[in-house]
Amino acid sequence: MNNEIILVVEDEPAIREMIMTALEMAGFECVQAEDVSSAHRQVVDHRPALILLDWMLPGGQSGIDFCRMLKKDELLSEIPVIMLTAKGEEDNKVQGLDAGADDYITKPFSTRELISRIKAVLRRSSALSGEKPIEAEGLSLDPVSQRVTADGNAVEIGPTEYRLLAFFMSHPERAYTRTQLLDQVWGGNVYVEDRTIDVHIRRLRKVLEPHDYAGFIQTVRGTGYRFSTQLAG
Ligand code: CA
Repeated sequence: MNNEIILVVEDEPAIREMIMTALEMAGFECVQAEDVSSAHRQVVDHRPALILLDWMLPGGQSGIDFCRMLKKDELLSEIPVIMLTAKGEEDNKVQGLDAGADDYITKPFSTRELISRIKAVLRRSSALSGEKPIEAEGLSLDPVSQRVTADGNAVEIGPTEYRLLAFFMSHPERAYTRTQLLDQVWGGNVYVEDRTIDVHIRRLRKVLEPHDYAGFIQTVRGTGYRFSTQLAG
């Protein structure tokens, strides 16, 4: 058993109950909400480990609105969000992930699939939100403040580049394919093209460049990328 609290935001009582029963059987504690304003109260009161968030909600604010709001809030942005939706359109998936959702499940789904997705997202979020700063030859990443410094100087870094760097620094000296990076950094259910990785790698190198750390982000020919403090070769 674990005592991680999952917030279930879903306005249809039958679905909400089905989800909560499955989560409780899997050992999670649950709290529930049926619209955005009650969801917000639950987040503040219970500080859940993860939010299952329905897209279409009553009361004028959608799940997407709530997700955007959370991701803009410094204190709440780290709580992972899995969007639930009946819509299967590619466009909506992209919108959900753009709003900062960590994963995406289309209804109808099996409870087994739901639980395994939840566990995967929780694993990933705890790996990325360790407490101890990670150090590499003067480059330092502090998961608590989410700040990156290079020889003590602040590095201006965007949220995706931060996650990418956090993953790299916690898994140094190993080559990863683009697909592996997508799974680890963006989540298993992504609708991001492989070349999106290249864009973020380029941005990450660009922010590290003025501090002379871009060389740690290395291209591995035929494979993908690796983080290494040793010379590329
Ligand atoms: Ca709904």
